Amino acid sequence: MTDSSLPGVPVLINGEFRQSQTTRWRDLVNPATQERIARVPMCTTDEVAAAVAAAKAAFPAWRKTPIGTRARIFLAYQQLIRENIKELAAILTREQGKTLADAEGDVFRGLEVVEHAAGIGNLQLGEVANNVANGVDTYTLLQPLGVCAGITPFNFPAMIPLWMFPMAIACGNTFVLKPSEQDPMVTMRLVELAIQAGIPKGVLNVVHGDAEAVDAICDHPDVKAISFVGSTRVGTHVYERASLAGKRVQCMMGAKNHAIVMPDAHKEQTLDALAGAAFGAAGQRCMAISVTVLVGDAQKWIPDIVERARKLRVGAGIDNLDLGPLISGAAHERVVSLIAQGAQEGAKLEIDGRDIKVAGYEKGNFVGPTVFSGVKPGMTVYDQEIFGPVLCLVNADSLEQAIEIINANPNGNGTAIFTQSGAAARRFQEDIDVGQVGINLPIPVPVPMFSFTGSRASKLGDLGPYGKQVVLFYTQTKTVIARWFDDDVSSGVNTTIRLQ
Ligand code: NAD
Repeated sequence: MTDSSLPGVPVLINGEFRQSQTTRWRDLVNPATQERIARVPMCTTDEVAAAVAAAKAAFPAWRKTPIGTRARIFLAYQQLIRENIKELAAILTREQGKTLADAEGDVFRGLEVVEHAAGIGNLQLGEVANNVANGVDTYTLLQPLGVCAGITPFNFPAMIPLWMFPMAIACGNTFVLKPSEQDPMVTMRLVELAIQAGIPKGVLNVVHGDAEAVDAICDHPDVKAISFVGSTRVGTHVYERASLAGKRVQCMMGAKNHAIVMPDAHKEQTLDALAGAAFGAAGQRCMAISVTVLVGDAQKWIPDIVERARKLRVGAGIDNLDLGPLISGAAHERVVSLIAQGAQEGAKLEIDGRDIKVAGYEKGNFVGPTVFSGVKPGMTVYDQEIFGPVLCLVNADSLEQAIEIINANPNGNGTAIFTQSGAAARRFQEDIDVGQVGINLPIPVPVPMFSFTGSRASKLGDLGPYGKQVVLFYTQTKTVIARWFDDDVSSGVNTTIRLQ
């Protein structure tokens, strides 16, 4: 049952923030306190159609808007985000749970993409080949597609929407965004700022909801391209449904990121990096390190890894300690039961975060840092994405064996190696089949002049979000082959020459 006295999160259709007409709503709950803070509508297929219609109507004028005018909106937008970053982080922490420092990082990584979108004049460039035949030139135009859509997950409610709509709109498209129904409030504040920065009516629209709204986006004939970030299960569904309907689709999906620790790694830096990457944001990062493969003598560091985990402080995001609560009661239940299963299946529970108590926040969805050693492929804690503060330690005899283990895992989102050997690092970067590769860096998220990527079950579609690849994703390449006849008879030269 939802509480109808709570403020409703509005939709944005054709420049107007308004309340949804749906009968289905979901309460938004502060994960540290269980305080109900707002309610979010589960939009209907008709509301999705209204948002797409507004985006379609806005497209002809927006695609003709000069590239410099489009760019200047994103210059204004990045400034507004910068000025409001503390407020944005506070909204995010209240609805999502991560610490204020992490929340600010979430906004900041999105802000970098907005800065990049402001440089669209240097990014949306075609190519030209002069005189490919006598009097003939060839050149390409990168033209916007029309209505594009974005479907985003709960874990980065600021950064991931900002991976999508700024670049799509800067390229001259119009957009329908469907944020996570678990924490849409910071996304809506970012959308308000985008409108304040000057994005015209209908160019950016927002609907909320679950499978009904997502399926309506996948099926709508006027949606030309979909960017999805979320779990492998839902992403595969979106990819299949929307690509069968003839759309371009890019899906960035689930993860089980492994780090390799070689015995020659710099011990203190490696242990610090692992603790931050495994337990930061309560493990709810798609780039969290959830498995560490200890090679040879690095297996002696297990007590040090456990000690680092034990020292981390768990608390409400607003108190800005090391890690906050999980997003929901359901997520808490899932993580707690996976920990129980890991112990039953024979992994050694070195530190158990299930019984953590946070004074003043007894109802919060907290799980403390948890470490299993002796983990093997085939155990549930290894095979499933836990998406909580749980680190699995796996042993390997050699770098080759460690690489084999990682390449045999279905996921290929992020990975890292810790070593002081250039030869080992190079071997790793060559042979590993994973999208983001860190060398002595635990969370190698690309900056916006590159693009996020992924291998195997972590990605469907061939172009990644943001960066150079997304300009190709959000545009149609048109190739023009042009011949101009020179009728200047006064020169006495007739240049109307045939193609060879
Ligand atoms: P999710 O797949 O449950 O939800 C993602 C989106 O899909 C949401 O907008 C949600 O409303 C929608 N959705 C949920 N169920 C649906 C259904 N049955 N049919 C249609 N749409 C549906 O993911 P989440 O729990 O919000 O986010 C966590 C997941 O996202 C993790 O698996 C994580 O690894 C992944 N993730 C991946 C990346 C990446 O770049 N690879 C980044 C962040 C998160």
